[in-house]
Amino acid sequence: MADEGRMKLSKLIDGKAISQKLRQDIAKEVAGLKEKGYTPGLAVVLVGEDPASRTYVSMKEKACQAAGIFSLEHKLPEDTPQADLLKLVEDLNHDERIDGILVQLPLPGHINSDRIIEAISPHKDVDGFHPYNFGMLVIGKPLFQPCTPYGIMKLLEVTGIDLKGKEVVVVGRSNIVGKPVAFMCLAKHATVTICHSRTVDLQAKVGQADVVIAAVGKAEMIKGAWIKPGAVVIDVGINRVGEKKLVGDVEFEAALERASAITPVPGGVGPMTITMLLANTVESCKQRMNKG
Ligand code: NDP
Repeated sequence: MADEGRMKLSKLIDGKAISQKLRQDIAKEVAGLKEKGYTPGLAVVLVGEDPASRTYVSMKEKACQAAGIFSLEHKLPEDTPQADLLKLVEDLNHDERIDGILVQLPLPGHINSDRIIEAISPHKDVDGFHPYNFGMLVIGKPLFQPCTPYGIMKLLEVTGIDLKGKEVVVVGRSNIVGKPVAFMCLAKHATVTICHSRTVDLQAKVGQADVVIAAVGKAEMIKGAWIKPGAVVIDVGINRVGEKKLVGDVEFEAALERASAITPVPGGVGPMTITMLLANTVESCKQRMNKG
């Protein structure tokens, strides 16, 4: 391989390989817990027929099986009344086999997602979306960290990227990615700027960053030329272009030329989300065990 090609490869943060390794470690931990009489259990609730949601749910089930985690699946019809879903969540809150409850989003329009998330016990909120857990994250003491931001932090940690004193620019301020990852970076002593659709001169903000975390959902909107030479680029975006191609929020090839490390799409942040869901479920089981 030519030197240039090797250099480019070494810059890649291989989320797929990191995730595989972590899943092996999780499976070993699960085996150890089972020997002590504790099987981690995850309940996944899917309402309706949304094809993308069905795919995610089946990926989560397969990942649970591979790790030895007990997985309980509830597939409910599209017209399920909100009261029935609330009752199911309440039952799962009290189900001793279940350490984690995941209600797949988005929910059908007649259901208030906030009410459902708030009904999940914070001690089983392995998605980390409950306002209690979000608040705990902000004050630096989360019970569970939301899976995608947690996966981003894990990628940085495993790759040996220290955030202390770094300028981190997060593009996107959603409750599931942008905001939580910003607070997680703050907890690691980074100086954090959060950008969004009303940010003036995004290019200048991105250009100052030692670490750019892009979570926008717009294909290649962050140009490679904006990246400060030597910066780390974490691309959370998953954007479908044409029939099959997936691209991130960052113009990958051009950013690769300037970055010191970069996540590809696919194969970067994507595989980490389910991995961290498994990790949170195991963590919840350990909390149950420690309570006796
Ligand atoms: P949201 O749509 O909830 O949020 C997008 C954010 O991007 C908003 O804060 C929005 O700003 C901001 N934004 C939109 N346009 C611009 C712009 N021109 N300049 C700057 N900011 C802009 O998305 P999510 O956070 O849910 O997801 C982001 C991306 O990450 C998507 O591609 C999604 O598919 C992907 N994703 C990947 C996951 C994984 O890898 N497992 C998991 C979750 C998401 P404003 O708030 O002002 O509207």
